[in-house]
Amino acid sequence: MFTPYRSPSLVQATLAEIRQATSQPWVIMEICGGQTHAILRYGMEQLLPPETELVHGPGCPVCVTSLDLIEKALAIASDPQVIFTSYGDMLRVPGVDRDLFSVRAAGGDIRVVYSPLDALRIAQQNPHKQVVFFAIGFETTAPANAMSVLQAKALGLKNYSALVSHVCVPPALSAILNSPANRVQGFLLAGHVCAVMGYHQYPSLAEQYRVPMVVTGFEPLDIARGILETVKLLESGRVEVRNAYERVVTFEGNHAAQEAIARVFEPCDRKWRGIGAIPLSGWKLRPEFQAYDAESRFQVGSIQPEESPLCIAGQILQGLKKPPQCPAFGRACTPEHPLGATMVSSEGACAAYYHYPAS
Ligand code: SF4
Repeated sequence: MFTPYRSPSLVQATLAEIRQATSQPWVIMEICGGQTHAILRYGMEQLLPPETELVHGPGCPVCVTSLDLIEKALAIASDPQVIFTSYGDMLRVPGVDRDLFSVRAAGGDIRVVYSPLDALRIAQQNPHKQVVFFAIGFETTAPANAMSVLQAKALGLKNYSALVSHVCVPPALSAILNSPANRVQGFLLAGHVCAVMGYHQYPSLAEQYRVPMVVTGFEPLDIARGILETVKLLESGRVEVRNAYERVVTFEGNHAAQEAIARVFEPCDRKWRGIGAIPLSGWKLRPEFQAYDAESRFQVGSIQPEESPLCIAGQILQGLKKPPQCPAFGRACTPEHPLGATMVSSEGACAAYYHYPAS
C-alpha cells in the first residue's frame, strides 16, 4: 500500500532541505530503538550531510532492563509452580550465564504473550499455578500493564503478578545531558511515548539544558522531518520543543492512559542495564497493589549480578560510542551468541548495525 511517509521523492526533498539548512556539525540523538532500526534499515545515515551525526539513545526497553531484573526473571521462571509469561524479545536476552530460552529448555513453563491481558487469561485458565508477567517497557507499555493489575484485582485473581521493570524517558535524557562526556546537542523524541504522555514534560528539560527537541515518528519521512526541524532549531540557536508527528501526538497526550498509570504505579529509582541507577527513572507498583508484585511474592529482591566487562552497550545507549566500535561486535557477539541485550532486541542498536550494515 502506498504511504506518503515512505515516498522516496518526499524523503529526498526533505533530505535536500536538511543539507541546505546545515552549516556546521551537529550531534542529534534519536531516543527510540524503533527509530534507530528505521534509520539503519533505510540507510538514512548515509543520506544525511556529513555534518549531521546521529547517535542512538537508550529507548530500547529490552536493552535497558537491568541485569538483576533479568536474573530475577530467570530465578522466578525456574520455579516449577510458575508459568512465566513475557514478550518474545526477552527470551534471548543474556543473563550472567543463561537466558529464558535455556530455562525453558530445562523444563521451565515460559510462554510468549503479546499483551499482559494474555497473561491474565492464562492465570484464569491455570488457577493452581502462579502466573507471572514480565512487565518491561517505557511509558508505552505501562497503560496495558496497569490495566492488567486493575483487572486482576477486579477479578479477584490470586495467582497473577507482574515483575515490573518500567523505565521513563525524561530522567534518562537528564542523565545523558548531565554526563560530562555528553555529545548530544538535540533530541528526536520518541513518538509513541509522546502519544501516551504528550510532550508537556519536555519544554522545561529543553530549557534547563538548552537543547532543542522534536517529537518524531517512525517512517522515513517522519524521521527526516524530525531531523530537519532539529537542525533548523540548532542552526537558529532556538531552544524549543516541536511536534513533527502531529498525526499521532498531542501536547497533552492520552489522559485515560496517564490516569491508569498513575492509579497503579508510582515513581522509583531504577537501574538501566549498562548505564546504572538513574533517580526516579522508573515506575513500581503502588503499595495498595503490592499483592501483585512478583519481586515480593517470590522473594528475589537481593540478586545483584555483575555485568560482563566486554559489553559496552551502556556507552552506546548514551550516544558515546557506536556498535562497530565495540571490539566484540560481529565477532564474539552476534545475534546467535549475544553478549549484551542490544544485540538481540528487535530495537537494539547493535542488532540494527548487524542486520543493516552500511554498504
Ligand atoms: S556488540 Fe555485543 S558486546 Fe558489544 S556492545 Fe553490542 S551487545 Fe555489547
